[in-house]
Amino acid sequence: MKIYINGQLREKEDAMVSVFDHGLLYGDGVFEGIRVYGGRVFRLDDHLQRLAKSAESILLTLPMPLKKIEAAVLETVRANGLKDAYIRLLLTRGVGDLGLDMRKCKAGPCLIIIADRIELYPDAYYEKGLDLIVSTIRQRRSDQLSPGVKSLNYLPNVLARAEASRAGAQEAILLSTDGYVTECSGDNIFFIAEGAIVTPPVHIGILEGVTRKVVMELCRDRLGNPVVERLFTPFELYRAGEVFLTGSGAEIIPAVRIDGRTIGSGAAGPMTKKIIGLFRDYAASPASGTAVYEDAKR
Ligand SMILES: *Cc1c(COP(=O)(O)O)cnc(C)c1O
Repeated sequence: MKIYINGQLREKEDAMVSVFDHGLLYGDGVFEGIRVYGGRVFRLDDHLQRLAKSAESILLTLPMPLKKIEAAVLETVRANGLKDAYIRLLLTRGVGDLGLDMRKCKAGPCLIIIADRIELYPDAYYEKGLDLIVSTIRQRRSDQLSPGVKSLNYLPNVLARAEASRAGAQEAILLSTDGYVTECSGDNIFFIAEGAIVTPPVHIGILEGVTRKVVMELCRDRLGNPVVERLFTPFELYRAGEVFLTGSGAEIIPAVRIDGRTIGSGAAGPMTKKIIGLFRDYAASPASGTAVYEDAKR
């Protein structure tokens, strides 16, 4: 496996960062998780735009223009000969001293691109659905660090996921400080009730997922059933006909139990299945991504 670090492609064994990198010392950095389908990097422009916004908001200057980062992403996938893959792009603050001061990170940010295969959940979960809990960990407030920043500072999410695992569930729902559903530890959330497709609005404090955006486009354009963005509590989720999660890693996955309550029929619902089908068709279409290889352009 070849990994991109600051302009070089290195073997996995030699792909290392300094112990003085503030990405390690403080979780000071941002990242992206991106899919590759059939030799095309899915919605690469959206991911790069979000990376730029995340970086800017934590006062991190991109080490090169976005066009060059795009070229580095394509080069890394190509170097590994992958057609279906998952890319992890990290931008850390870089090497500094042991203090918090980002001005000491003089070498500048460190750009890392890993292209690998993943299967986040076994196939069976896309039929039988996930078990969720409502976490005791709240979504961080926007006046701490905006949830819109895809930051390396992921400990609340990691602990929420651990809480789910301990309860025998696969994912955890994070509520806002006043009790509204925001998202899951690594995925956005949707529910369907009486034909309406509902998801929390951006202003409540969520990571604005690329998969969320694509699902909203597909519902509007292909189903003719625009997604409603509004606040809701777990109470509405418990009574929903269908619930599903979206994320680059998980793609679109049904949730069938929340805090021990069965959702709908207790298996993937018809609308969820339809949306999964639309998503897969879209991901297989040339318009959905940036070609890595010449022949994927056609
Ligand atoms: C990345 C992420 C998502 C999903 O975003 P996608 O762009 O669809 O992968 C949702 N929530 C959190 C906290 C995330 O980090």
